[in-house]
Amino acid sequence: MAGNLPRNIIIAGGGTAGWMAAAALARRVGRHCAIRLIESSDIRTVGVGEATVPPIRGFNQFLGIDEKDFVRQTQATYKLSIQFCDWLRLGHTYYHPFGAHGTKRDFAHLHQYWLKLRQLGDTTSLDEYSLCAVASMFNKCAEQSPDPASIFSSWSSAYQFDASLYAKYLRAYAERLGVERVEGKIVDVRLRGEDGYIEALQLEGDRRIDGDFFIDCTGFRGLLIEQALKTGYEDWSHWLPCDRAYTVHCGTAGELTPYTRATALKAGWQWRIPLQHRTGNGYVYCSRYISDDEAAASLLANLDAPALGDPWQLRFTTGRRKKFWNKNCVAVGLASGFIEPLESTSIHLIQSGILTLLLNFPSLSGDAADAEQYNRNIALDYESIRDFVVLHYNATERNDTPFWDYVRTMEIPDTLQQRLEYFRSHARIPPRTPYDLFEFTDWIAVLIGQNVMPRSYDPLIDMYDVAEVRKQLADMRAQIRQTVQSLPSHRDFITRIMER
Ligand SMILES: Cc1cc2nc3c(=O)[nH]c(=O)nc-3n(C[C@H](O)[C@H](O)[C@H](O)COP(=O)(O)OP(=O)(O)OC[C@H]3O[C@@H](n4cnc5c(N)ncnc54)[C@H](O)[C@@H]3O)c2cc1C
Repeated sequence: MAGNLPRNIIIAGGGTAGWMAAAALARRVGRHCAIRLIESSDIRTVGVGEATVPPIRGFNQFLGIDEKDFVRQTQATYKLSIQFCDWLRLGHTYYHPFGAHGTKRDFAHLHQYWLKLRQLGDTTSLDEYSLCAVASMFNKCAEQSPDPASIFSSWSSAYQFDASLYAKYLRAYAERLGVERVEGKIVDVRLRGEDGYIEALQLEGDRRIDGDFFIDCTGFRGLLIEQALKTGYEDWSHWLPCDRAYTVHCGTAGELTPYTRATALKAGWQWRIPLQHRTGNGYVYCSRYISDDEAAASLLANLDAPALGDPWQLRFTTGRRKKFWNKNCVAVGLASGFIEPLESTSIHLIQSGILTLLLNFPSLSGDAADAEQYNRNIALDYESIRDFVVLHYNATERNDTPFWDYVRTMEIPDTLQQRLEYFRSHARIPPRTPYDLFEFTDWIAVLIGQNVMPRSYDPLIDMYDVAEVRKQLADMRAQIRQTVQSLPSHRDFITRIMER
């Protein structure tokens, strides 16, 4: 144990957040700090985080996890996009693909050329210019290439996996690196008299676990960050009014699709996430506009195959803690806040919280400046994801139910309003900051997918000969189609990965 490093790090909670934190800390500081994770097998984890975004690959690489092993152990499939059905209007579909539009990563202004041709009467969908969107349409899969000249440099993917199996997998990993798991129910959080810092967690059966630094991964309860430290919560439900979800698994049917589907319904939306062994489903809804019984019945009526059990209800309030790091406690996962899973961002926020903590690692003596920096960074992360998710609801033409009337006409965050105004002038997106999960190409896919059209395209595009642009874009579409035809099916690709 060395110098000014915390000697005892205590992780409270063993869901996806707890075990991701344990694995990453064990990897980075495990030889120098004692890390203990407390969880109660009597308290169920949420465990429905099944769809992810591409940075998860970086997290697994940071841990040194072998992809083949991971795909096998977590029943993972690949995710190339989200297919959005009925969001703009009933019967309309678009993709939010990962990777770039165009055949190279640096073809950043493709949508500008597309907009110009559209103004001249071209009706080709923007999806046709995305390798990942077209591969999604044909249920094909491949890997990204590091070679910037390759068409696969425009490729990117994430995983869909069984989150409980992922937590189990990371538990084995963390325990191998020396993390000690303590089974027990936390019944009290002991605060130091002089400064209100946490000094110990009291477990059932009169056991006491002392620590220097605490990571609250106790889920929506926020046992440490909220119940003990009274940190406060910023409620965003006026922008994201869905507050409940029913989830249920069903068997697989038909081809294994390499994407998550999000279908807009009467008072929210339904997800469909195909894994190797089953499909995860859920209806995220707003209890002001639909009863629980109707939501559950609607979910069960929209499955590919018979349900593998009864629907399970979860309740939540979208928003975030006023501070993520308060005194000697950092909240990670659902204890830190929640943005509904439309863009599969919660596991990413866990990852971002852990990696940002490693960049601002606390010392034994502690310094408030580290906590403040951490809080600023994670707040930006949360807010930019919030704006992106709000966009999907607000940019709709749907007026068929009171729910859609509300979200279409609601006030939106100023930050999103400014972004929309900027886009509407010449289809530009502000530069990405390190705490924007979504980049240029993500915003373009959703803005154009939901028919948010600018008044004009970038005037610089008029420098190029339109016949030449038309030809280049047609060639690009043909190259994408041809490439996709040559790819293995998603299922064959998974088999190949597991046979490596
Ligand atoms: C409807 C819904 C759909 C979602 N879909 C996605 C998705 O597609 N993609 C995505 O990235 N994320 C998704 N998420 C979020 C994802 O499920 C969570 O981010 C993830 O599961 C992490 O949860 P957690 O570990 O923070 O909390 P939990 O899973 O709730 O774990 C809490 C842990 O704390 C322990 N605990 C609690 N109280 C005590 C106590 N008193 N004593 C001891 N232990 C205690 C519990 O035993 C458990 O181990 C979704 C969430 C919801 C609600």
